[in-house]
Amino acid sequence: MGGTPIPNDIKLLDENGKRVDGRRPDEMRPIKIEAGVLNKADGSAYVEWGLNKVLAAVYGPRECHPRHLQNTTRALVQCHYNMAAFSVDDRKRPGPDRRSHEISKITSEALTHVVFTEYFPRTSIDVYIEVLQANAGTRCAGLTAASVALADAGVPMRDLVASCAAGKAADTVMVDLGKEEDNFGQADVPVGYVPRTEEIVLLQMDGELTHDEYTLSLKMAIEGCKKVYEEQRNALKRRYQVRSVDAVEEPKGVA
Ligand code: ADP
Repeated sequence: MGGTPIPNDIKLLDENGKRVDGRRPDEMRPIKIEAGVLNKADGSAYVEWGLNKVLAAVYGPRECHPRHLQNTTRALVQCHYNMAAFSVDDRKRPGPDRRSHEISKITSEALTHVVFTEYFPRTSIDVYIEVLQANAGTRCAGLTAASVALADAGVPMRDLVASCAAGKAADTVMVDLGKEEDNFGQADVPVGYVPRTEEIVLLQMDGELTHDEYTLSLKMAIEGCKKVYEEQRNALKRRYQVRSVDAVEEPKGVA
C-alpha cells in the first residue's frame, strides 16, 4: 500500500469504472455467514467474504487463568487472531507475529465495547479467530465472525459489531478493498461499527487520504458495515430456526 508500483498487467480501475474483479467502487465482495458451525465451542461462526475464509470460536465466560489477569469487576474479552500457514500464496510462517498481536488487540478492544463485561467479573471470554484463506480484509472478516460467534455463545451484548473497510486505489475511493487494491492502492480504512448505537469501535488507517477522501471512505465503510450487519443477523436467525427444529426433534431420539 502507498507507493508500491503497480504491475503492468493490473489495472485497478478500467475505462468503464470497474475494478480488478469487475466491481463498482461502491460494491462489496459477496459475503456469506454461518453461525454455530462447531460442536465443541460455546459459540462459533464461519465467514466467507470474497476469497477470505475465516472461522471464529468462543469459549466462556469462564474462570480467567492465570488468576493475576482477573479483573474483579468485569470479564476480559481476549481475542486470538491467527493466519493459517496455508492461508496465503507463500506459506505463512506459523505462530504469532506483530501483525497478529495488533489485530488480536484491536479486535478485543472493539468487542469489549459491546459485551456486558460487568455481568461476569473475574472471567475470561476467549475468542479464537482462524484465517483459513486470506485475500485482504481479514481483520474485518475476523471481527464480523467473532461478533456472531459471541452472540451464538449467548454472551450478552449491546449489539453486534459489524466491520468493513473502505480506502483508495487508482485515485478513487472504494469500499472493501481486495488483495490487488490493498497491495497496490493508496489507502485502507478498516472500520468496526455498532449499528444500534452508531458507535465506531474500530478505526484504523493505512496510507494517505485528504480530509474529503477520508470522510467519504468512512461513510462508505459504515454503509458496508450496515450490509454486513444484515448478513450477521440473518445468520443468527437461520441458526435459531435450526435450533428450534432440533428442540422439537430431540425428544423423539431420546424416546
Ligand atoms: P487485512 O487482512 O485485515 O487486510 P493486512 O492489510 O495486514 O490485513 O493484510 C492484507 C492482506 O495481506 C491479508 O489479507 C493477506 O492476504 C496478506 N498478508 C498479510 N500477512 C501476510 C503474510 N505474513 N504472508 C502473506 N500474505 C500476508
